[in-house]
Amino acid sequence: MTVEKHEKSWRPQTRLVRGGTRRSQFQETGEAIFMTSGFVYDRAEDAEAAFKNEVERFIYSRYGNPTNEMFQDRMCLLEGAEACRATASGMAAVFASIASWVKAGQRVVGSRALFGSCLYMLTDILPGYGIETEIVDGTDLDQWRDALKKPTAAVFLETPSNPGLEIIDLRAVATLAHEAGALLVVDNVFATPLLQKPLELGADIVAYSATKHIDGQGRCMGGAILGTKAFVDDKLSAFYRHTGPSMSPFNAWVLLKGLETMELRVERHCANAAKIAAFLEARAEVGRTLYPGLESHPQHALAARQMTGFGSVVCLDLGGSKDRAFRFMNALRLVDISNNLGDSKSLATHPATTTHQRIGAEERVHLGITDGFVRLSIGLEDAEDLKEDIEQALKKAG
Ligand SMILES: *Cc1c(COP(=O)(O)O)cnc(C)c1O
Repeated sequence: MTVEKHEKSWRPQTRLVRGGTRRSQFQETGEAIFMTSGFVYDRAEDAEAAFKNEVERFIYSRYGNPTNEMFQDRMCLLEGAEACRATASGMAAVFASIASWVKAGQRVVGSRALFGSCLYMLTDILPGYGIETEIVDGTDLDQWRDALKKPTAAVFLETPSNPGLEIIDLRAVATLAHEAGALLVVDNVFATPLLQKPLELGADIVAYSATKHIDGQGRCMGGAILGTKAFVDDKLSAFYRHTGPSMSPFNAWVLLKGLETMELRVERHCANAAKIAAFLEARAEVGRTLYPGLESHPQHALAARQMTGFGSVVCLDLGGSKDRAFRFMNALRLVDISNNLGDSKSLATHPATTTHQRIGAEERVHLGITDGFVRLSIGLEDAEDLKEDIEQALKKAG
């Protein structure tokens, strides 16, 4: 299946609700879930033709499945990409977006402020395959410039970053990456496909954890890789087919439903997050509040330039001590302690002891992840209830 021309004339919200929908012979309203591992052939010759790629059809759900294709096509319409592959998780998407084509002896340059597992992939997994990796401070263009003096295959970054909410200049890094011969791979999870369009800013490949805002309701894992048809056909497709990171059709169906309401949800996430950020910034108990939408954010101007909204994550520093951060989190009654984000329920995380525990104290200091640092993923509850909950927890934290 491919995206049809009339679907491309639709505005974003229509694409989110209807893009990629293909009805079966039963003419169902909602997208069907094809929970099948394989597909049958009338004649042995048909199977032969399918395996020779002489006909386009479904063969095996590790390669492709009708429900997954509806999700992939809807994601293409949303991102403005030519092709997409759905994966079982965000990490499967991030790993496949690089491991499918970067070879031993080649080089990858990445930013330091990354989701914990993404950093681990760069510093531990890829070097084990003979891929040289270099880590730079993503906000410092001079460091990118130096690192990209050598020929490089891929540049990997995340903006806004998790959990420090650093903003990286996508246009500038894309130019430097291309001069070094590299493809720019962007993990766009924090921005969501709605608030930032990396492909328009020069990126070549975009990776998502669909577990976050695309589902957004805490139900399932998923991921997506988007890029040109040439990238997907020539670089990604064989790796995807033969190593098996594919998504369950059931999850593709859940995520199709997630996309239908994503714009409404992300709008509310951003509005609530802005209210909580302003509230926290005015509180004397809070050492520092970080939110790209606040004028006090060191890269607010850049965020305003390359994003159309500032996202759902707000961070606060309660002044160095883990005890105080834990007292605050344990006193929260409405906001749950959990390491997920982008969920309809507001969630609090202590990165230093959870998501970023493994990277070591020195690296954490470098990233501004102090022991008093708390990440709040602001959900869809009434912002006044969230404020009241945070206020009473701050008081209890002392
Ligand atoms: C969650 C997340 C991932 C990994 O996604 P999973 O679905 O948990 O595998 C990668 N990058 C970022 C920025 C994330 O927030």
